[in-house]
Amino acid sequence: MPTSDSLQQALKQYFGYDSFRAGQREIIEAHLAGRDTLAIMPTGGGKSICFQLPALIKTGITIVVSPLIALMQDQVTALKENGIGATFLNSSLSYRETQQRSQAILNGTIKLVYVAPERLFAEQFLEFLNIIKNSIGIAGFAIDEAHCVSEWGHDFRPEYRQLSRLRQIYPDVPVIGLTATATERVREDIAQQLQLQQPYIHIASFNRTNLYYEVVPKQGTEQSYINLLQQIKRSQGSGIVYCLSRKRVNEISDRLREDGIDAIPYHAGLTPKVREENQTRWIRDDVQIMVATIAFGMGINKPDVRFVIHYDLPKNIEGYYQESGRAGRDGEDSHCTLFMGYQDLETIKYLIAQKVDRHTNEPLEAEQRIAQQQLRQVVDYAEGAICRRTILLRYFGEGFAGECRNCDNCLTPKPMEDWTVESQKFLSCVARAKERFGAGHIIDILRGSLNKKILQHGHDQLSTHGIGKDRSLDEWRQLSRSLIHQGYLTPTTDGYAILKLNDRSWEVMRGQKNVLLPIEREAEPAIASEREQTPDRSVDVDILFERLRLLRKNLADEQEVPPYVIFSNATLNQMAERQPTTRKDFAKLSGVGDKKLEQYADDFMAIIRQHHEKYPPAETSEDDYADPKQKSVAPKSKISKASTQRETLAMYENGADIDEIARDRGLKPATVWTHLVQLIESGYAINCDRLVSPERQTVIYEAIEAIGGDSLRNLFDHLREEYTYDEIKIVRAIWQNEKEPL
Ligand code: ADP
Ligand code: ZN
Repeated sequence: MPTSDSLQQALKQYFGYDSFRAGQREIIEAHLAGRDTLAIMPTGGGKSICFQLPALIKTGITIVVSPLIALMQDQVTALKENGIGATFLNSSLSYRETQQRSQAILNGTIKLVYVAPERLFAEQFLEFLNIIKNSIGIAGFAIDEAHCVSEWGHDFRPEYRQLSRLRQIYPDVPVIGLTATATERVREDIAQQLQLQQPYIHIASFNRTNLYYEVVPKQGTEQSYINLLQQIKRSQGSGIVYCLSRKRVNEISDRLREDGIDAIPYHAGLTPKVREENQTRWIRDDVQIMVATIAFGMGINKPDVRFVIHYDLPKNIEGYYQESGRAGRDGEDSHCTLFMGYQDLETIKYLIAQKVDRHTNEPLEAEQRIAQQQLRQVVDYAEGAICRRTILLRYFGEGFAGECRNCDNCLTPKPMEDWTVESQKFLSCVARAKERFGAGHIIDILRGSLNKKILQHGHDQLSTHGIGKDRSLDEWRQLSRSLIHQGYLTPTTDGYAILKLNDRSWEVMRGQKNVLLPIEREAEPAIASEREQTPDRSVDVDILFERLRLLRKNLADEQEVPPYVIFSNATLNQMAERQPTTRKDFAKLSGVGDKKLEQYADDFMAIIRQHHEKYPPAETSEDDYADPKQKSVAPKSKISKASTQRETLAMYENGADIDEIARDRGLKPATVWTHLVQLIESGYAINCDRLVSPERQTVIYEAIEAIGGDSLRNLFDHLREEYTYDEIKIVRAIWQNEKEPL
């Protein structure tokens, strides 16, 4: 058994990480000690290393069972990139390929073999396993996405049920199960189904501290689209926009593209080929945004998803947590935004009411009830005025004190309004209708409706009939839900059905308690957009980051792998900040192991050295982070908001011309010109000779000196229309900068 120190060394050597994340070490030690293990960690918690590191340390081969081909490929690619022998066997391979891979396994160059469960129990493979056992040895079985074994989970796969046979055939080989599914029932089921022997169980917290949660009200189709667009424009990096239906996916992705956003669709109605293409383009950062139904995402391991927007209401919290959880696997700050619309709510309710038995056409009442209850939990989350994390974690049985400082409710608490009088009207109406009706009917009474149901029950005769005409339907609905959330009304368990009074209701009616109603904020989440920035970083670090990112993208394209497989954003950020120029320093970056050092250090350091020609690094002692604020040539004003300008600039500095930049970035050339003008205006020294020849610069400069820089039009005329507006703008920006240093 290796010492703790040697475990840490192995972690650095193979994966480039300096320390274990919470739980990883304990799980690895248990597995290395030959114990069965169950690791329950949220998405991004770092499950893979829990079986990959032991696999490298132990003799023999580790068999990894994984349900999806995409998942297998992804992990194998990432392992190979770290110089680790890994392969997968599944139905996508030809006979020949399978033979070749089997040979490689027996040659001993492979440490991890990924297989699909159905393949595992094919006669041939069982024989092959036996050969492995007798020649090289089987180090362990890792069951990824272990919740697939449970019917109680959200993703049951019958093939997983057979996995208990592993125990019977190989009673001495330790099994490790891994999953991100939290409910207790599923956990117990996994241990039982896999026949784990007195397993070491690790349950990590499900709190994803790097995720910012927010809810934005939907305000009409047009306005909510604009809100979505703004939200996306404020965001950087990869994102997913989830919609409820295929039609919506198409609509939204089309519109976003028309508005100059780099988005593509994904849903089950597209051909498998198109789906796969779109997925690959998104994973490789060829497009920024995937607009998708929830058919998208399972098995996607992209670690640098910066935002997940639910443009339509999700159907349950578990799904919402999984889907939104695809953001920020790499631990960097990311956004989860939910658009809450009452129209969507009605649509989903309608769909639930349509759930009928396929054969008898009878309504599936039990299912409908569960679905209604789940929907109510979503609404509780969306309308809640307390810390979003508290609500989410409570759902998974985890207590959380609140005040997370990383959700909209914590950062900008909703303003509260006193709705005591309206609440009294509502509650006494419930009482007068004898606690036998739902919110819809109560609201009808309050608003003075004379519909059939009202007349039938004689409710037009109630003293509360028509006393609530001054409030809108939506306002009453919101109040009724809030009364339930705040415990002033008790609904019967099935969804929203019948409202009952309780002790607290009477306190309100007797005037002993005031009811406050949270008022929806405007859709502008100010704090959220600020969080996206890295305001402490100077522009030259950002520019270096962009240049490193471009190099990463080029290297990734050469190898046809996703960029994150080469280096994560976290590694790239560290690289841009520390700017190592020796192998020794480069090796210290988190995420740089032996293999990556050898393969990439020179390329990336070449960019850093080039960068230093223009921006000499500040004097720092060997181990310091270079303090960006001390950079000698840091421009005078911060433009860190303008990530898109930075991207343009990085490309320009890498030698691209305006048209190339425009084409590559899907922008108009005019926009690229504007970027450069703005950069100059904000104090940044760009060599413009490639934009406007030095001779032409001189002529324009003299013209500005002669007649001033106030009117572009006058300058254009003065120069007898021989110079373009773009050229004039560039030179004018330089001139202004020299005249009035910021
Ligand atoms: P999960 O399978 O639990 O969703 P992964 O195993 O894919 O998570 O890990 C998520 C991300 O965290 C990956 O980019 C991985 O390389 C990174 N990671 C895992 N362990 C560590 C660690 N100890 N230090 C730094 N990064 C880590
Ligand atoms: Zn919070």
